[in-house]
Amino acid sequence: MNIVLTGPPGAGKGTQAEMIAASYKILHISTGDMFREAVEKGTDMGRKAGEFMKAGQLVPDDVTIGIVAERLAQPDCEQGFLLDGFPRTIKQAEALDDILTGLSQTLHAVINIAVPDEVLIERMTGRLTCSGCKTIYHRTFQPPQVEGVCDKCGSSLQQRGDDTAVDTAKNRLAVYKKQTNPLLEYYKQKNLLVNVNGQRSKDEVFAEIRQNLEAIQ
Ligand code: AMP
Repeated sequence: MNIVLTGPPGAGKGTQAEMIAASYKILHISTGDMFREAVEKGTDMGRKAGEFMKAGQLVPDDVTIGIVAERLAQPDCEQGFLLDGFPRTIKQAEALDDILTGLSQTLHAVINIAVPDEVLIERMTGRLTCSGCKTIYHRTFQPPQVEGVCDKCGSSLQQRGDDTAVDTAKNRLAVYKKQTNPLLEYYKQKNLLVNVNGQRSKDEVFAEIRQNLEAIQ
């Protein structure tokens, strides 16, 4: 099964993506993770992408489409994939259609996790990620047992560079509304859109996603 997972920053995409990928045994491809890895490694692409990420802006389409096209052409994607954080613009969505046509593949569903703005800002500014296993926590809603330490692997917890300031969080939300919201109509027209209420526990959100995916399979 080939799925796109979309929703505003802070909607819980990363958490749901891991649960879906594990449950359906499909590959989790996160463009945000790919860019963060490139930033950490200090590659040319990472340096370029890092500037946009710090400002809460989107990395240019040509760079983003290039890395996704390369990743989807790998043989391990044939088992099915979940795209997390891509596409984020109409241009990226059209490019994805072309990439999949070229690979004789199709999309089966686009899951949109919907959450109100004020909740998103609070979620984004309190989010913590494990530096080792990448598990996601939240200062208020899902704190670790020991402050600053991952329950699962004991590595230190970090705040994402683009999550710290309220201004950056607000900017990411504004960018999302302007550039990514039009995708919902794009996929609705194609009969692929599944809207899920993201303002509940992660297990409840996942149960609703599962229910929808079972109906598609
Ligand atoms: P995420 O982890 O999905 O919230 O992505 C973090 C940041 O990476 C975003 O705020 C963008 O700067 C960049 N990014 C991730 N995916 C894309 C994309 N599909 N198009 C452009 N920029 C992206």
